[in-house]
Amino acid sequence: MIPAMSESTIFHKILAKQIPADFVFEDDEAVAFKDIHPKAKTHLLFVPKTFVASIADVTADTSHVPGMLISKAQQFAKDHGIDGYKLTFHVGKGGGQEVFYLHLHFMSESALS
Ligand code: AMP
Repeated sequence: MIPAMSESTIFHKILAKQIPADFVFEDDEAVAFKDIHPKAKTHLLFVPKTFVASIADVTADTSHVPGMLISKAQQFAKDHGIDGYKLTFHVGKGGGQEVFYLHLHFMSESALS
């Protein structure tokens, strides 16, 4: 499912496959691809297919989305034998958020196998 295009960010275009990304995971609910400017040996971004701009914009209807992304990251780490990692949401400009399409940073010093 492709997210609504009423808002347009670079992640909308990546999800729509209009611009390339190095995808490492995709299912019905989310994708993960490599961050273009990695800040760890493995630096991935988990992005929901349902558009939410930011943690600050989560509502009762979308409150499951952050937990869903964490579950995908947890399962991804298990599947790839990664036993240590950091998960981060940047929230708002003051929180360092640059792309206003909700995403979970996954960073690990383990290499991706
Ligand atoms: P944030 O500061 O949480 O909004 O993080 C946005 C992240 O998206 C940054 O770490 C960027 O390096 C990353 N990024 C921006 N454009 C791309 C792209 N085209 N492909 C992969 N990662 C990207």
